[in-house]
Amino acid sequence: MAFSKNQSEVDEGLKGELAKKGVVVTTINQLYNWGRQSSIWPMQFGLACCAIEMIATACARYDIARFGAELFRPSPRQSDLMIVAGTVTKKMAPQVVRLYNQMAEPKYVITMGACSIAGGPFIDGYNVLRGIDRYIPIDVHLPGCPPRPEALLYGLMELQKKIQSQEIETTEWYQKGMKREYPVPDFGPHGLVPKFNPEVWQPRELDHRKDKYGEPILIGRKTKAPDLDAPLATPPVAQPPKPQTA
Ligand code: SF4
Repeated sequence: MAFSKNQSEVDEGLKGELAKKGVVVTTINQLYNWGRQSSIWPMQFGLACCAIEMIATACARYDIARFGAELFRPSPRQSDLMIVAGTVTKKMAPQVVRLYNQMAEPKYVITMGACSIAGGPFIDGYNVLRGIDRYIPIDVHLPGCPPRPEALLYGLMELQKKIQSQEIETTEWYQKGMKREYPVPDFGPHGLVPKFNPEVWQPRELDHRKDKYGEPILIGRKTKAPDLDAPLATPPVAQPPKPQTA
């Protein structure tokens, strides 16, 4: 059906002539995409320092309202864009996935900053998730530590381009049998269970880092994390003193 395509079948010359008379010719699809891309409502939440840059983007100097995305909503049910701004700790990750599941559809995600993409400067922290893309699908990855407000606006424009290119007939959100929710991980004694969602993320099979950079240099004593599920060690039984021999 032509109305659901991005390209109108009307001749460009004729369109121009009609526009002079005040008649605009477009497709339902273009109109729909224009409406969606120009009224994105981000969710009002931040996780760490990147959130300060996100707040600055909404202030007068950078003015995200120019892109129609200034209505930061305090409820996931009224939001269609999640900006994951900051470090995602393993304790916080289940809440982020739950919020994503509760958002209105069609919904989009921008990961803002090195932390939310891959753990950032805390990548070796026992408590930090190495990328929220292990649990939910991401539309735009925005690197930096922190990315400046201009970078967030650039990411928003990239998202708008993505929305512009979508077609009603093929966009995932309008298909039958579309998966609506992603499993929320549990916070277990050794971190998150499961460690990732195989539907959206797979570990790299081949790791070429050693070929490129050589063996990692380990500084300090490497200690093994205690096994909290192991049975408790029985305390040593006190032995009676041995008799003294003359
Ligand atoms: S990427 Fe840098 S600025 Fe952003 S949350 Fe992480 S440490 Fe903070």
